[in-house]
Amino acid sequence: MEIKTIGVVGAGQMGGGIAQVALTSGFKVVLNDVSDAVLEKSRAGIEKGLDILERKEKIRAGDKERMAGNLSTTTSLDPFTDCDFVVEAATEREALKLEILRKLDGIVLPGRILATNTSSIPITRIAAVTRRPESVIGMHFMNPVPLMKLVEVIRGLQTSRETNDATIKLAVALGKEPVPANDFPGFVANRILMPMINEAIYALMEGVGKAEDIDAIMRMGANHPMGPLALADLIGLDTILEVINVIHDGLGDSKYRPCPLLRKYVDAGYLGKKTGRGFYIYERGR
Ligand code: NAD
Repeated sequence: MEIKTIGVVGAGQMGGGIAQVALTSGFKVVLNDVSDAVLEKSRAGIEKGLDILERKEKIRAGDKERMAGNLSTTTSLDPFTDCDFVVEAATEREALKLEILRKLDGIVLPGRILATNTSSIPITRIAAVTRRPESVIGMHFMNPVPLMKLVEVIRGLQTSRETNDATIKLAVALGKEPVPANDFPGFVANRILMPMINEAIYALMEGVGKAEDIDAIMRMGANHPMGPLALADLIGLDTILEVINVIHDGLGDSKYRPCPLLRKYVDAGYLGKKTGRGFYIYERGR
């Protein structure tokens, strides 16, 4: 089936990024979130992203208006009945994702694929709440979506080969490089990345180094483009805590226990760049 319209649930940093990439790749997008205020902020972010691409001559003059015109926003899931493919990118909380997938299953036409951008929650479990588990798959984009090439593609136990093949084809059409991972807590990317970030937070808590020194050591010592604490701020500390909890619960190994300092920051509402404060303080996005 030809995919023309992509539905995206959740208009945060990932949903907004996925929507932008879908628009620049020629798709129509229906973007959903809980309030008009969030949707307006997301639309403004997407249009700013398109402006930058136009300035850099990555898209042609005049393309911006057409692409922005292909975006519709809604606080209801009802318009998803017209979507050919759906990506769920709402907050990383299992109960919330299960509820959204259950609702989507009742609205989106049978046979259409429901993909989730979850960072860690088992795809098999998410698929099981729908009546179309064979059409549910993990499509794990990286942050920031317009810049990062990788999409981790995760098949649940029930996911069909057709769903897998169509998702890979779509990822390529979005200019991404899909790589398969098996359905275990955290898949591949976060199984490896999250313990490193968590350990960096322990190093900060134990006074092994200051935040900027821990980051500088990992940037120059491991040749990482960003230090782990700056990356944690970019990802969002609430998301990190949810993901590390899923890995800890799912694998049952105490080596994955979340650092108490991470919990404390999340309790304080210091969620990173998106709230203006995490391990660093951000003013006007810097
Ligand atoms: P975010 O906090 O920026 O955005 C989440 C959005 O979901 C918010 O706008 C929120 O209002 C919305 N939301 C909450 N409940 C909703 C509902 N019932 N219906 C519709 N929207 C709802 O978070 P994010 O960083 O964009 O993460 C979204 C998903 O992407 C999570 O599953 C996360 O694990 C995953 N992910 C995040 C990253 C990252 O680096 N941040 C990377 C890969 C995957």
